[in-house]
Amino acid sequence: MMSFTYKGNQFFAEECAVADLAKAHGTPLFVYSKAAIEANWQQFAQHWPAPHKLCYAVKANSNLAVLNLLARLGAGFDIVSGGELARVLAAGGKAQDVVFSGVGKSHDEIAYALDQNIGCFNVESAAELERIQNIASEKGVVAPISIRVNPDVDAQTHPYIATGLKANKFGIAMTEALDVFRRGATLANLDMRGVDCHIGSQILSPKPFLDAAERMFDLITKLRGEGIQITHLDMGGGFGIPYQQEEKLEVSGYLQTLQEKAEKLGNLKLMLEPGRAIVGNAGIMVTKVEYYKPGSEKNFLLVDAGMNDLLRPSLYNAYHAIVPVERHDGVDEQLVDVVGPVCETGDFFGHARHLAAQEGDMLAVMNAGAYGFTMASNYNTRPRAAEVMVHGNTATLVREREPLASLWQGEHLLGDDA
Ligand SMILES: *Cc1c(COP(=O)(O)O)cnc(C)c1O
Repeated sequence: MMSFTYKGNQFFAEECAVADLAKAHGTPLFVYSKAAIEANWQQFAQHWPAPHKLCYAVKANSNLAVLNLLARLGAGFDIVSGGELARVLAAGGKAQDVVFSGVGKSHDEIAYALDQNIGCFNVESAAELERIQNIASEKGVVAPISIRVNPDVDAQTHPYIATGLKANKFGIAMTEALDVFRRGATLANLDMRGVDCHIGSQILSPKPFLDAAERMFDLITKLRGEGIQITHLDMGGGFGIPYQQEEKLEVSGYLQTLQEKAEKLGNLKLMLEPGRAIVGNAGIMVTKVEYYKPGSEKNFLLVDAGMNDLLRPSLYNAYHAIVPVERHDGVDEQLVDVVGPVCETGDFFGHARHLAAQEGDMLAVMNAGAYGFTMASNYNTRPRAAEVMVHGNTATLVREREPLASLWQGEHLLGDDA
């Protein structure tokens, strides 16, 4: 799939010249490819027949146009806040197709999700189970429950995005899971119907997923042996994408193996929560070179995007390829650090890159579709970037650049007597 590619010396998003998009909408600018999102979705969906279900992890990219596109493709959604539920509903998704993950669900979030008739709560602690029971009881409803178990497998990924180890805050330990289920089964306003796990993110080998699945199958067998009728297993997300030259994860093989193994247990609906794998390579961030700043030890390309726009390099030391939007013949490449204007040394997009770029040139930061805009902030009082989705030769502004004055809207001065 070639959604972002050169035609001659010009970089294109589908049939749209990226330079034209930058001219029309300014920079920094996120550009998403509709075709890429659809192709990524199909890569999962074609190997995942009903009753199995895919719930897109909203936190990867929660733009309404992205959510709406996925809802039309038949997606369910995995959310981690009441705000994400409201977004899904605003984008035309149905609460029945939503699973609610997250370690810290507040009283109000649980109440809101119950009022909306949420598909399932992925419960992460014994205390949360009691809280949901209490709220459901007050409302006179029955809450659909899955327990998030921590299978204690090493996903071999960055420590900040490994979530399936005993030392992580996520999920309930395998050893405690049985007791939590037994307790849940005694509570009148809970329907104990599923188990789930999510072992981390940016995982590029099927092995940790399959190790986790074996442990989940064992748990389901035990629970069924005690008369607790588990009808679904949600294996979470975490499917990695190549950012550099890493070998691609073979999604289809994993999906098929998982289904074969699940068939042995019988009557088990499988669910997955892919986020990054759906949107990661379907987006780029376009930024303009403000200055070329040569130095005695390093040369810098100072660009108009900052860590507030794309945090992954600063937060995880993540690698993103950076390419020129227009290639100039005969201009020499320099060894440069690509850095932003934010007042932090950690504000960078790439170290020691070979780029031929000068003041005024545009660069595309690749694979910025996941955990890009959704992690953006207003640090340094910087308005968040605009977002565009291309479809063939059509480009739609799916989020306007934030107006400056909106950044202090809702702030108040002290009164005269203060
Ligand atoms: C973040 C998250 C996902 C999605 O992870 P990806 O690595 O983007 O696929 C899925 N499920 C849960 C519970 C998550 O927290």
